[in-house]
Amino acid sequence: MTTHRELKQAIIDACLKLEALGYIIGTYGNASARVPEGLIVTPSRVNYTELTPEDMVTVSPEGEVLDGQRLPSSETSVHRLILNARSDVGAVFHTHSLYATSLSCLHQTIPVIVEEQSQVIGAEIRCAAYVPAGQHLALGETVAKTLGTSNAVMLANHGVVACGRDIPDALFAAQVAERVAYMYLSTSAVGKPVPIPQEHVESERHRWLYKYGTAADRTTGS
Ligand code: 13P
Ligand code: ZN
Repeated sequence: MTTHRELKQAIIDACLKLEALGYIIGTYGNASARVPEGLIVTPSRVNYTELTPEDMVTVSPEGEVLDGQRLPSSETSVHRLILNARSDVGAVFHTHSLYATSLSCLHQTIPVIVEEQSQVIGAEIRCAAYVPAGQHLALGETVAKTLGTSNAVMLANHGVVACGRDIPDALFAAQVAERVAYMYLSTSAVGKPVPIPQEHVESERHRWLYKYGTAADRTTGS
């Protein structure tokens, strides 16, 4: 069983990877993972390269700080309300990655345009309404509502949130969301990207969750 300390280190490692990818700059972005008593979240305005497990904060599903000396992320409500609404989600990452954040300024929905989006994100990537910085609860409410059953959502004029069953899954969703945003922006400059039909979005997501990489995936044509 993973200890809380291991989980805290895994969150830090994932944040450092996101920083290396250029998705996180400065202290923008935050991350969380579900624990039985609520969630563990990154502290507010602490450089990722300086983070130690002791800096992480444990928060209840209602938003009460249960453990930790630091101030929890100012966007803890985003993480908390997603985890409260989605029992299938175990980790959440918020970044200001370049292409997804660029698209967030257009307040558009990215339809499902590519295989990894249908499989990993499982749906279109909507854009939650603009909420001025500092209105933390309002931001959390609009982001969790707009996310719906997708694994990624843009935050208007701000950034993107990705989630998944666990830390590796959510990290991968953050990478896929950024690639999809790039593909949508670049293909839109040439024409109108053609979405994948909804029935195939569902079957691809199902295959990725339950069949891909298993013997069940070897049956041809089914
Ligand atoms: P925190 O440092 O409070 O998590 O905020 C980062 C951020 O992304 C602000 O938009
Ligand atoms: Zn942010």
